[in-house]
Amino acid sequence: EDVMVEVKNVKKYFQLKKNKTLKAVDGVSFAIKKGEMFGLVGESGCGKSTLGRTMLRLYQPSSGNILFKSQDIHHASALQKKELDQRMQMIFQDPYASLNPRSMVMDIIAEGLDVHGRLKGKQRKERVFELLETVGLSKEHANRYPHEFSGGQRQRIGIARALALNPEFIVADEPISALDVSIQAQVVNLLQKLQREQGLTFLFIAHDLSMVRHISDRIGVMYLGKLVELTTSEQLYKTPLHPYTEALLSAIPIPDPDLEDKRETILLEGEIPSPISPPSGCVFRTRCPKVMEKCAIMEPEMKEYKPGHYAACHLHDEVESRGKEEAAVTG
Ligand code: SF4
Ligand code: MG
Repeated sequence: EDVMVEVKNVKKYFQLKKNKTLKAVDGVSFAIKKGEMFGLVGESGCGKSTLGRTMLRLYQPSSGNILFKSQDIHHASALQKKELDQRMQMIFQDPYASLNPRSMVMDIIAEGLDVHGRLKGKQRKERVFELLETVGLSKEHANRYPHEFSGGQRQRIGIARALALNPEFIVADEPISALDVSIQAQVVNLLQKLQREQGLTFLFIAHDLSMVRHISDRIGVMYLGKLVELTTSEQLYKTPLHPYTEALLSAIPIPDPDLEDKRETILLEGEIPSPISPPSGCVFRTRCPKVMEKCAIMEPEMKEYKPGHYAACHLHDEVESRGKEEAAVTG
């Protein structure tokens, strides 16, 4: 099939003191297609980074499964895990904190090659030169140290490091959030080029929709450990089904004042509840402008309301059952 990674009902709970449990990821399911740029969006603390890390085997899920090309990455042999770790790589949010200041760029980029005992000597050097070129730097940069580079250049070094072992799947955890707005687009263009030219598959994690909606093929929206909506970027932008997505979209400044689909800004009241004591029923109900009585009692399930367009919200159940009643009357 054309599925690269499948996330099946994954939960990641952290045990805290006093018998408290932090439900960072609470029953998430979705699949990323081969060659896809999949955007995962939500406010900080919604569990998106935890999910991304669990998908790279950096965390063990509390329950559920993650399949990479149909292979369960957490239930594989040691040898298979070593192989899988080369196929899946991470690009980190902070290009300042993620590069060892005492290592030369050459050694930073070759880190994976060294760990996995691939390429040595001249071949290793050639490979690093090639990677520097791929990310828009040059081989003269190989013998320098991270502090000699700008934020954007450091993120390119981080990307070169992630590419060293020829991965198929990359989790980019807010790769541009720490960069100046003026250079964000350059880094995004580089990632898109890699997706296009090398057929790489990406999970692109972001805290808002402003950039992701332009670059993602499909987008998943997370709130308080749950996936609440999933569809193509186009559908999500044109016809969002979940009130939380509507609020996220309304927060994006619209550059063209004549644009017809001008949205009113929806300001969400209150704070995100703690993932230690999430609300009953719908996790979004304490901030939802459209909350109904049943939202406190019943948890909405992710349902496919239109082909390929999933959402977890009772508003659409109403529409759905009304449609059925009408059909029953007229039919
Ligand atoms: Fe709002 Fe209810 Fe839908 Fe939750 S289920 S998003 S509270 S309308
Ligand atoms: Mg994060």
